[in-house]
Amino acid sequence: MIKIAVANGDGIGPEIMEAVLTIFKAADVPLSYEYVDMGKWVFDKGFSNGMTDEAKATIEALGILFKGPMETPKGKGVKSINVTARKTWNTYANKRTFQTLHGVDTVFSKAGIPIDLTIVRENIEDTYGGVEHMLSNDVAISRRFITRPGSEQVIRYAFEMAREKKAKKITCGHKANIMKLTDGIFLNTFYEIAKQYPELEANDIIVDDLCMKLVMRPGMFDVIVLTNLQGDIVSDLCAGLVGGLGFAPSANIGDNICIFEAVHGTAPDIAGKNIANPTALLLSGLAMLQHLGLYGKAALIENALLYTLEQGNHTGDFGDKSIPALNTTQFADAIIANFGKQPASGARPELADVPKEHKVAKMDINLMMDNPAKEEEKIAGVDFFLITNQFPNTVAEKCKQALGENKLHLINISNRGTQVWPTGSVYTNLVDLYNVRFEAGDGVEVKQADIVALYEKMTCYFDVATVEVLQKHGGEKAYSLAQGQ
Ligand code: NAD
Repeated sequence: MIKIAVANGDGIGPEIMEAVLTIFKAADVPLSYEYVDMGKWVFDKGFSNGMTDEAKATIEALGILFKGPMETPKGKGVKSINVTARKTWNTYANKRTFQTLHGVDTVFSKAGIPIDLTIVRENIEDTYGGVEHMLSNDVAISRRFITRPGSEQVIRYAFEMAREKKAKKITCGHKANIMKLTDGIFLNTFYEIAKQYPELEANDIIVDDLCMKLVMRPGMFDVIVLTNLQGDIVSDLCAGLVGGLGFAPSANIGDNICIFEAVHGTAPDIAGKNIANPTALLLSGLAMLQHLGLYGKAALIENALLYTLEQGNHTGDFGDKSIPALNTTQFADAIIANFGKQPASGARPELADVPKEHKVAKMDINLMMDNPAKEEEKIAGVDFFLITNQFPNTVAEKCKQALGENKLHLINISNRGTQVWPTGSVYTNLVDLYNVRFEAGDGVEVKQADIVALYEKMTCYFDVATVEVLQKHGGEKAYSLAQGQ
């Protein structure tokens, strides 16, 4: 028996979890369960991260969490329990598989176009850090963290997974044409790692083009790896290709802890009625069985599910409306009754079980993901973000006065990322936050103290919202240029 942690979740969570674990029991799946207290209901009892200390300790000891959906408590400053769990335990890769399910009608199934895609989405970084600030009354900014070690973790996982599933092709979706530093790190890391997997055809595509091609010719793709937000959007697009969120499973993979859950939420509108569709949670559970090497059990259940769908069985959220809908329990019972049956198309191969013990490394301190190949970092200048509604020439004049004898020079001024000084257009609309850039001449050494001195002077003329130190890495500018610079 392999022991895993189970959290029922909120809303429809307990109903669909019961359905799935009933199916597992009927299939003699060799798992035992330790139920943990986690979800909105735990948050309501005063646990600010939505789980008890015992739940946290159990999950960290067992390493596998099978969870139902959890409601995000409403209110400013309250973070999603789901996102907190994924980030706290460094489940850096979110893997979602999308395959045609016969019996689930979609425009593609009707046109005879098969879908077989795996999306690996980075799961920790990007704008999901939720690090946001109002810089002025009118301007909000969000920090987008893309790191080299974080990109390496998820991209290596994607390549390993593609190799294991004997995929032919792996594609990196990105927007590096616009976000040259953030998406640039992700894309460069992808091609660095690709060199170690010569058997896989590795290519890249700009994410908007990817969306169009996925809809027009989904067969062009096999495994796709993306950053967090782009991956979130693209994977829901793929869920739409195979019938919607009711059929979208997800696995959150980390080195120590893995979380398996459906993509959908708590469906408060149908909670407590025993009518929810358990398929997405069941498919997530099957991904968990495969992760644990229980391939035979996973195939037995999946083939029964596919057969059940092919026979026209459905819950109220999909399927042929002329056939009466089954409730959650009846749908689970129908799958159990079909154990041993093979679907007419798309049957999964019945491999033998090779149970794998899931190991959690004992950690006493956090892991520092340091990069030994760091380039030399030097300060090149500073960007000041100023709250003012004065016009660009006036801002420039005052900046020059603030500069005085400082070794930095005023280079340019931009507004919403578009240059408005020394050159610009009167047709560029302005908001009350300017970005003023100062740089030192080549070969001039800049210290933090030079920036502090300038900061002090700038406050005589402006309200400073924030500053950003400009760096050179290995002699190259490590910051973006303003549009029009
Ligand atoms: P939702 O996915 O819960 O519901 C959207 C629609 O899909 C609803 O009409 C719902 O009835 C239907 N639906 C969803 N799952 C279904 C199922 N299994 N069977 C039949 N119909 C189903 O999205 P929402 O309403 O935006 O979110 C509700 C709550 O869930 C929010 O608090 C949200 O934060 C949370 N949420 C949690 C997770 C998670 O736990 N991973 C994911 C998404 C949303």
